[in-house]
Amino acid sequence: MLAVSDLTVSYGQANALQNVSLRVDDGQIVALIGRNGAGKTTLLKAVSGLLPIRSGSVQIDDTILNGTKDGTAYNTPAHKIIGMGVGHVPQGRQVFSDQTVEDNLILGGYLIRNNKQLLQERMEREYNRFPRLLERRKQLAGTLSGGEQQMLAMARALIMDPKVLLLDEPSMGLAPLYVKLVLDTILDLKKQGVTILLVEQLATAALAISDYAYVLQNGDIVIEGESSKLRNDPALIQTYLGVS
Ligand code: ATP
Repeated sequence: MLAVSDLTVSYGQANALQNVSLRVDDGQIVALIGRNGAGKTTLLKAVSGLLPIRSGSVQIDDTILNGTKDGTAYNTPAHKIIGMGVGHVPQGRQVFSDQTVEDNLILGGYLIRNNKQLLQERMEREYNRFPRLLERRKQLAGTLSGGEQQMLAMARALIMDPKVLLLDEPSMGLAPLYVKLVLDTILDLKKQGVTILLVEQLATAALAISDYAYVLQNGDIVIEGESSKLRNDPALIQTYLGVS
């Protein structure tokens, strides 16, 4: 379970998020949607420890990763947060283009590099999950299609067995066929028991595959609810998301 409570994050004087609270229960896909600049990427980066928190807290199960709770301050650096159950697939995928698929996966397993057997088992698991990556394991990641790079970025994060997987705009820049492939993959991950916080510009698609959703506007959660209800509310989608 991921819980974000009363989170405020600022760039200089300007708050990018104000008192944002959300929760991702185990086994769920939760969508975070909103227009450009709403603060979605900022929230994911704050959860992963890539941005400092001004107030509020980020918690995984019973462990507070960052922020302040009940008067105690917590400050876990990003590299430790990876080992504590947060997998982050960044916007634009950011695979290591001049390294092979296999080397990208090995880098994803950096924290378990000394346990060769475990690393090998985890890599085999990811190759089973994404057979396309097995076929291309000796290929440079930069030569993969955008959709395949997205699979690689997911597999690289999944190697560490995260309690929650953060996906930042996985459909961005992909051809329609690959958008569908990526959305199907996210649903498959859920069936395999992976817990997901999904940031997506494609609001309708995000609502179609998620259990619960939050709409972010100018750093505030303005609407939240079960995705099945929100997706049948065209006025809401038009008002807050500007799409139909
Ligand atoms: P997008 O879909 O465009 O990535 P987003 O919802 O993810 O949008 P953020 O990238 O989190 O939004 O940005 C939230 C706000 O913070 C925006 O007003 C943005 O201009 C501002 N912002 C983001 N990064 C920085 C930064 N490094 N320095 C200053 N302001 C920033």
